[in-house]
Amino acid sequence: MLKHKTALITGSTSGIGLGIAEAFAAAGANVILNGFGDAAEIEAIRARLASKHGGTVRYDGADMSKPAAIEQMIGTAIAEFGCIDILVNNAGIQHVAPIDEFPPAKWDAIIAINLSSAFHTTRLALPAMKKKGWGRVINLASAHALVASPYKSAYVAAKHGIAGLTKTVALEVAEQGITVNAICPGYVRTPLVEKQIPETAKARGITEAQVINDVMLLAQPTKKFVTVEQVAALAKFLCGDEAASITGAILPIDGGWTAQ
Ligand code: NAD
Repeated sequence: MLKHKTALITGSTSGIGLGIAEAFAAAGANVILNGFGDAAEIEAIRARLASKHGGTVRYDGADMSKPAAIEQMIGTAIAEFGCIDILVNNAGIQHVAPIDEFPPAKWDAIIAINLSSAFHTTRLALPAMKKKGWGRVINLASAHALVASPYKSAYVAAKHGIAGLTKTVALEVAEQGITVNAICPGYVRTPLVEKQIPETAKARGITEAQVINDVMLLAQPTKKFVTVEQVAALAKFLCGDEAASITGAILPIDGGWTAQ
């Protein structure tokens, strides 16, 4: 389905981004991985995806908080593949603390990585998509693009921002064969969520088990975590011709969280 397409997925060394990279590689795409982690483990992921599915798989370790590194990453990808046909803005971090204790450096990092990086990748990748008359931009937002939770000021602000960016860019390129959408997962049990369980326990003065049952799963009427595979399947669907009329959409995949 994605043969001859090139997909760049930011933050794809772990969690949801890795799941999307796996799904796209399995569908025949060339994949550019990005993110942090142990160099040998990342190379093992890269080699496994390439040998299992046969597409070209590259890795670029650009730091999504640094506009110059983003510019270099997009330039290198376009020089090799001609176009990034599918751009997935997924890299993200979280920090949980009351606003009067929220470290300003964490605020800046969350806004840079979770929001501004998508502005930079998108502005740099779009010209080649426009030339081709085809493209897909998928922004990994969150249920927190639609509703808030206490102690996540920077994250909720960044995710609401990415929803606005999604709608704006979708309108700008609507006639050019390019769709721009945001996927809004509820809680998915990735390293990002594992890390915030003790942080939330501290911020709310409750146990870690209470965070899982009384905060996270309480938010989701299904009482189940969303899975990486479910999010990746939605991202893949958005790349198909069947999804050509879906643009500017803010799509929850949250077990009913934001229906409440
Ligand atoms: P994760 O921690 O498993 O993965 C995050 C990825 O981003 C990693 O590959 C990491 O190396 C990369 N990354 C972090 N900082 C980076 C930087 N400065 N430059 C480049 N890469 C960087 O997290 P995840 O849960 O898979 O989250 C992925 C996305 O999905 C995030 O945008 C997150 O906000 C969003 N999301 C996650 C959940 C959830 O419950 N897990 C829910 C809703 C939305």
